[in-house]
Amino acid sequence: MDFLQYAIDLVAILLLALGIKGLSKVRSARGANQLAAVAMALAVLGLLIHYLGTTGISSAAWTWIIGGTVVGGVLGAITAQRVPMTSMPETVALFNGCGGMSSLLVALAAAFFPAAFGASGMVAVVSIVISVFVGAITFTGSIVAMAKLQGWLSTPAWMQSKARHFVNIALAVACLVAAVDLIAKGGMSVQGLWLLVIASSLLGIGVTLPIGGADMPVVISLLNSYSGVAAAAAGFVVGSQLLIVAGAMVGAAGLILTQVMCNGMNRSLVSVLFGGALGASAAAGGGGGEYTNITSCSVEECALTLEAAERVVIVPGYGLAVAQAQHTLREVTRSLEAAGIEVTYAIHPVAGRMPGHMNVLLAEADVPYEQLKEMDVINPEFPATDVVLVLGANDVVNPQAKTDPNSPLYGMPVLDVQQARTVFVVKRGMSAGYSGIKNDLFELANTSMVFGDAKKVLGDLLGELKELGVGKK
Ligand code: NAP
Repeated sequence: MDFLQYAIDLVAILLLALGIKGLSKVRSARGANQLAAVAMALAVLGLLIHYLGTTGISSAAWTWIIGGTVVGGVLGAITAQRVPMTSMPETVALFNGCGGMSSLLVALAAAFFPAAFGASGMVAVVSIVISVFVGAITFTGSIVAMAKLQGWLSTPAWMQSKARHFVNIALAVACLVAAVDLIAKGGMSVQGLWLLVIASSLLGIGVTLPIGGADMPVVISLLNSYSGVAAAAAGFVVGSQLLIVAGAMVGAAGLILTQVMCNGMNRSLVSVLFGGALGASAAAGGGGGEYTNITSCSVEECALTLEAAERVVIVPGYGLAVAQAQHTLREVTRSLEAAGIEVTYAIHPVAGRMPGHMNVLLAEADVPYEQLKEMDVINPEFPATDVVLVLGANDVVNPQAKTDPNSPLYGMPVLDVQQARTVFVVKRGMSAGYSGIKNDLFELANTSMVFGDAKKVLGDLLGELKELGVGKK
């Protein structure tokens, strides 16, 4: 029986690794997600086979197992169906929180009933301590992150003061004291265990609560990594190789993603975790200011310029996702393509509010993958581009990032759209983007603003193109 469980675990690990690898490409992501889901189902099957072959499974336990599977499965399926794409970071935060909570509960169960879990010895005790500590931080931190993104929670003023660092340090010291106590007593200190649970839970809240809402996706990615670490530690507690390997993979993948996001936003992880909201640093660091020289134009003028173009690049941003204008955009680009105009999409790594946000958005509208070009590939092509259509993007096309050393964005890699012949920027007004700073692109001579909600403007543009006969066979 154990051989069968090991064989199933091995297949599950391989599928999980293939799943994570496949998630790195838009084309393979859907299938990769399904592979990883099959891996999870196999993991559960392997565990059931193990218990059937050793201690057996009582009918009461079956009730819990089947009940839990049905309730969890139905809740997961309903959530996945209903959640809008723009709320994906909150959903991921909730799932991370569930992962952290699971590791915490497994470690607590092993601490209270060591015989049932075979959790004895130094490795088990240290694993319990790590699992409780990281699991509790992940759970409370993720719930705070989700509540902040949902707008249910805002940062209290006192949480922005420097004093919060002392509170967090005091909590970290309490965790350390509890951990030492637990290890010294071989994991059998009830006070130590509860002190660790309470101090770690408060630390998760204390670290996450002051972070600005817009930095939350980075924090969620980091918490995802923590949930992997907590799961790997829980794997040591219960002696599950599968959990150790899967947890380590999630931990490493989350850490890499966090680093990629920080690089794309030109932020260090330390400044995200301890620097408060970016808006504050933007105000302090300069880069703001009034617009004095804005040119705006009508949708009709935009349509006329597009009609005469040979090469058009679309730059999608957060506003396109907010307006849910991806399907209307696809209709516009279809008519341009039908007129023989070459259309590509420039994808900035941190456009939108979550990794891969624009890829997912455009995939929803059936934009062919091969038309999506990464920033490094598209940047050299802008000088040979006739028209760039910036749709609800702001920070990712701000030239200040390359030209103004005093700008908070300075050093962030951006799309060099200003090098194209003509740039149209579609947005509702002159509001700043996530960074809260002025965008020099909007005042350049080759830039025209087309004011309005992205969906409405694109709908009108489609109408104008039809009137002009663009794309009619
Ligand atoms: P952005 O800089 O946040 O700008 C979005 C713009 O969309 C706003 O200026 C807004 O202007 C406009 N907008 C909003 N609703 C609109 C609508 N219905 N129709 C048309 N326009 C609309 O967006 P971005 O250029 O995509 O840059 C992303 C930013 O988020 C970066 O600073 C990045 O560092 C940050 N970030 C990204 C991630 C990630 O993983 N992708 C995670 C965290 C933070 P109006 O209000 O004037 O319309």
